[in-house]
Formats: sequence, structure tokens, C-alpha cells
Amino acid sequence: MTTHVQNLIAGAWVGDPENERRNPARPEEVAVLSPRSDLHVVDDAVSAAQEAQGAWAAMPSPARGAILLDAADLLRQRHQDVARDLVREEGKTLFEALGEVRRAIDILRYFGAYGWRLGGDVLPSSLPETSVLTRHEPIGVAALITPWNFPIAIPAWKAAPALISGNTVVLKPAELTPLSATHLARALADAGLPPGVLNVVHGKGSVVGDALARDRRVGALSFTGSTAVGLGLHTVLSERRARVQLEMGGKNGYLVLDDADPARAANVIAAGGFSLTGQACTATSRVYCTPGIHDEFVEALVKEASRFVPNDGLLDGTSMGPVVSEDQLAVDVSAVERAREQGASVATGGDAPNGLFFGPTVLTDLAHDSEVARHEVFGPVIAVMGVADYEEGLTQINDSQYGLTAGICTTNLRAAHDFSANCHVGVVKVNRPTTGLDLNVPFGGVKDSSSNTFREQGPNAVDFYTWGKTIYLGQE
Ligand code: ADP
Repeated sequence: MTTHVQNLIAGAWVGDPENERRNPARPEEVAVLSPRSDLHVVDDAVSAAQEAQGAWAAMPSPARGAILLDAADLLRQRHQDVARDLVREEGKTLFEALGEVRRAIDILRYFGAYGWRLGGDVLPSSLPETSVLTRHEPIGVAALITPWNFPIAIPAWKAAPALISGNTVVLKPAELTPLSATHLARALADAGLPPGVLNVVHGKGSVVGDALARDRRVGALSFTGSTAVGLGLHTVLSERRARVQLEMGGKNGYLVLDDADPARAANVIAAGGFSLTGQACTATSRVYCTPGIHDEFVEALVKEASRFVPNDGLLDGTSMGPVVSEDQLAVDVSAVERAREQGASVATGGDAPNGLFFGPTVLTDLAHDSEVARHEVFGPVIAVMGVADYEEGLTQINDSQYGLTAGICTTNLRAAHDFSANCHVGVVKVNRPTTGLDLNVPFGGVKDSSSNTFREQGPNAVDFYTWGKTIYLGQE
């Protein structure tokens, strides 16, 4: 079943669906066709957003929120179909896709209700008969560039805070997953979002994404994707002092101490490393074990891996979907090959016996500086290494170009506290998977994982899409 999607410009669905995306679980099935937009389409979308922005910002924020809440209801009614479409274009399991669509719904609800809560402060002044107020003004037009791995949740968690705070939006979804983002846009449009407030332009990142970044009418750009692309965008946006928010790569480490339960540690780390086929920027990809637990932990992790059997995500009982594309498969396979060449043992997995169904992989006997221990793979590959003690483990975790998430399995409160304080990452998990955050908590990283400017999610997200104004109100 092929679905056609179009661009959304000034409230009209336009563009010829010509870019083919096949179902990664069934390569013979064309899942979706979407437009390959050019620079004129980007120009039209930004013009539409700019034109719509004044009236949208002038609408009372609870009224803006009511539209987000209605969109959440529509998405709720459609969520089964939306989740199935998400599986067909991205590959994750239906269980994972349903969770992601529910997340998008909850985000719309959260920011819909936030329409009642937006506001500033009243501050004391040293002057008599004077009040000082602060207001949060919308930036104007926000461009959102999103990746394929959470094809509806990430567009939702960028668009909802942008919209509720009075911005208009041009969204550029990943080429591999145009359909899920379209479902979000459709729900908002059907809920009564005025024309031009949310525009969607499909196409190549190097064309559409690049043009959005260079358009001087775009006041804020929020990007999630690779570090290489993100850093390039940072240069372009910084040059004209536009606001920029980047969430990029990760090489998320986990420390397992002797006092932990090996089976429980393996369960937590498998969830963080193998769920979503390892295709999450927060996925656990390197693990450091102290000597007393290393072997038992590896054995338990291999056992956990056997519970992730890659298959078509739409089939009942599938525990893991295929990797997203041939290109990503090549990255996963070559990471394991290079590790082998550098002396690693493959405790389990390491290949795709058929199609894009790459098995969960555990690598051992690695040097700390081996490529697979340092470079992001973005697949279900976990490298397990030994460390002498807690201190060496912490040092290894921090010795990375990235700083998104990290975790520790321990029953030792002192170690948990010390790790939380001294781990140089944006999110620390103690005895919990590195993946998975609630929608209301700050999300972002440090070092090459993030622009390290504004966090995403919850009230922090609104900070990114607004600028502060201070007002002195004095009596005559
Ligand atoms: P991934 O490896 O996850 O595909 P990318 O960084 O290539 O990561 O893609 C993330 C998003 O950035 C996608 O929407 C993609 O189309 C877009 N993109 C890719 N290249 C560029 C670019 N040069 N300028 C702007 N956006 C880009």
C-alpha cells in the first residue's frame, strides 16, 4: 500500500509526490511517495509563515492551546493507523510506534494546556509607583529540521512549544519518513490551525534544510540529526545571530559496578541498547564493567539479546524492527567488521542473515580507543569493556567527544551520587536505561551532542522559542 504525501504551504496541500520510500521490512513495498521540493517551495513556505505570524501571536494563548488540544484528540482517534504508517516507513515495532504516537499526543496536550500557563514575572522596582514586568515574545518564524528515528514525536516536541508561544513554523521532516510528520500536520490543520501557521516542506536536507537555515526571515532553527550537519548549520545561523538549537550524536556509556545484580544490569542495558533497533541518540553503546561482574554481566547481556529477534514490526510479537536503510545496515556491519579487525570478539549478533534484519550485537575484548568504542554507530551494537574500578569507569565514560546520556548500575549510594555529579553529560540515569525521558524534563547534551544552548521539552522548550522583554510601568 503506497501513500502519497504533499507539502503544506499556507494551508494548501501541494507538490508532486515523487520521492520513493520503501518499507524497510518489506523492500518490495513502496510505503510512501513525497515531494522533492526546491528553493521556491521553501521561499513560499517561509513567506506563508511570516504572513501568518502576527495574527497567530495576537490570538490569546489559551485559544492557540485549544487547537493543540483538539489536534491531540484527532491524533488519538487516528493513532492506530498513524502508528502502522510509522512502522511501514521507519521500521520500528508496532508497540514502539504506538508508544511514540502516544508521546506526540501527550506533547500536544501538555503544550495545549500550557496556553493557560505562559506568562512572565512581576518584579519589585527601586522606583516608587513603578512595576517591572517581563514578557516572553515569540521569535517569529521557526524552522524545524527533524530526523527519521522518531518521525512523529520529534516534530511534535519541536512544533508544539514553538506554536503555543506564538511562532509560526516551517517543518522539514527527514526524507526517509515524510508520512508520520504529515499525520501530525494533518491533525493540526484539521483541528483548525490557521493557514500558514504550520508549513511542511519535504525534500533533501542539503536543499530544503540548507535553504531554511540561510533564509534571514527564519529567526530560530531547531535541529535534531547528525553532528556533522548540525555543526554546519550552527555556523550558518550564528553568523546572523539567529537562535539555534542542535541535538546531535551520542556515544552513551554505562558503568556496571561489582555490587550490581548482573541480570538486572543486563536488562537495563539491553533495553537502552537494543530497543528501537539501537537507533536512538540516547542508546547505550558502550559499557564498562568492574572485574568482579564482567563475565557474568556479558553472559546475562547475551541472554537478554536473544529476546530481541528482528522481524517485520507489524507482525504480532516482533521484539525488534529492521534497521532503517541499506546505508545504515552498511554502517552497522562495517562497525562490527572493523571491531573484529581490531581484535574484538563477537559474543552475539554482528550480521543481518536476511534483508535489513541486523541482530542485536555484543562485542567484547575491545581496547578503550577502538573505533566502535568511540564513534557513534546508531545501531543495536553494544561494546563491553573492563575497567579496574569506579574511578577508571568514570574517566572512560567522560573520555568522549559526546555528552548526551550516561548511566550507572549500582546499589552504592555514594557511587551513584558521585557519578551524577561528575559525569559530563546532559542526562544521567542511575539503574535505568539511557533511553526514554518523560516529556516534561529538560533534554539535551553537552560537547558534540548539542549546541548546549537551550534544552528541549517542558518549559525549557518555550525558552528557546521566545525572547525576554522587561517593561517598567510607572504612574504619571
Ligand atoms: P541522519 O543521519 O539521522 O539522517 P542527518 O543529519 O543527515 O542525520 O539528517 C537529519 C535531518 O537533517 C534530516 O531532515 C535531513 O534531511 C537534514 N539535513 C541533512 N543535510 C542537511 C543540510 N546540509 N542542511 C540542512 N539540513 C540537512
